[in-house]
Amino acid sequence: MSDCLFCKIAAGEIPADVVYEDEQVLVFKDINPKAEVHLLIIPRQHIASLADIAEEHDELMAYMMRLLPRLAREQGLEHGFRTIINTGRGGGQEVFHLHLHLLGGSTLSGF
Ligand code: AMP
Ligand code: ZN
Repeated sequence: MSDCLFCKIAAGEIPADVVYEDEQVLVFKDINPKAEVHLLIIPRQHIASLADIAEEHDELMAYMMRLLPRLAREQGLEHGFRTIINTGRGGGQEVFHLHLHLLGGSTLSGF
């Protein structure tokens, strides 16, 4: 997707503060952090949102889920963390390339 911000970050065309990357995913710091630690986990593959997930993405989704506690540990979030996936305009999604928010640091307030 040539006009997708997160595809451009994944391609290295737009700089980001990358903390982890491999063949499937890229993890970088949110530019406008809502907590002490605020990372975004994105698939390299363009998927617009969670609403577009299909069976073919099962492995990728499980992989990203399993990555979360590992990243949290590496960020020192031993007391816990919050994971958010905003989906669609009604869900507050602003960037239409699937991403998982990983938040933590000070104790987060409840919903
Ligand atoms: P969402 O509302 O779930 O679509 O979240 C999009 C997130 O992307 C927001 O938390 C933004 O702060 C973040 N964001 C937007 N542009 C960038 C960027 N260039 N680098 C890092 N994070 C970004
Ligand atoms: Zn994209």
